[in-house]
Amino acid sequence: MSAPLVHAVLPDSDSVESRDVLNVQGSQASISGVAELTAAEPGAAAASASSDPTPGEPSIFPAVPEVPERDRRFMALAQAAAEEARAAGEVPVGAVLVRGDEVIATGFNHPIGGHDPSAHAEMAALRAAAQAVENYRLPGCELYVTLEPCLMCAGAIMHARIARVVFGARDPKTGACGSVVDAFANPQLNHHTSVVGGVLENECGAALKSFFAERRRASRAARAAARADAGSEPDNEPGPAESL
Ligand code: ZN
Repeated sequence: MSAPLVHAVLPDSDSVESRDVLNVQGSQASISGVAELTAAEPGAAAASASSDPTPGEPSIFPAVPEVPERDRRFMALAQAAAEEARAAGEVPVGAVLVRGDEVIATGFNHPIGGHDPSAHAEMAALRAAAQAVENYRLPGCELYVTLEPCLMCAGAIMHARIARVVFGARDPKTGACGSVVDAFANPQLNHHTSVVGGVLENECGAALKSFFAERRRASRAARAAARADAGSEPDNEPGPAESL
C-alpha cells in the first residue's frame, strides 16, 4: 500500500517487479473497462467520480465524461511532466499545481533517482508550489495528476488544503481516491478537497502501459541474452508480466 511507484532500473528486485506489474495491470484494467464497451460493473475500475452509464443498461458508447477544456489543458501539462519521468527512467506519472489559470509548479515521479520513497509526482508538485508561494498551505489550488493519488499523497493533499484534485488513470492497487480506499470521502479526515477522476484516463493510462510494455521487452531481451551467454535451455514459461 505504501510502497512507491517504482521502475525498471532495479531488475534484481522481485518486489519491485511485481509492484510494477500490479500497477500496469491497474491501468490496463481501467482502459479495458472503457474500450470493451461493457456496462458498468462492480469491478475495481468502476470508481465514483466519473459519469458511468446507467447500471444494467449496456451503452453503445464508452463512459467517457465530458472533459472541460481547462481540465484538458492542465492535464496535458501533467502528461508532459510524466514524460519527464519516463525520460529519467521512472514510472511516468506527472502532476501540475494550479492556482486560477496560473501554473505554480509541476512535478514528476522520481523515487528511484531521488532515493526517496515519497518522491511521487504529487509530492514533488506540492513541495515546489509551497516553496514558490512560501506557504505550506495551498488553499484555492488545484492539483492535476495523471494517476490516482496514493494514501501518502492524499494525506499531503489534505495537509496542503488543496481545493480540488483532478486525476487521470485509476490505480486499483494503490489508489486512495475510490479505487482501493477513498480518503476524501471521510469527512473526519477531509473538509476541503473535491476530487474528479478519470480525466483523459485512456491517454494517461496508455503512457503507463507503454512504459511497462517497453520494460517487459527489455527484460525479455536481457533474459534471452543471459541464457545465450550461459548456454542454458530456453525458458518458455511466461513471467508474471506476460499474463497481462
Ligand atoms: Zn502517491
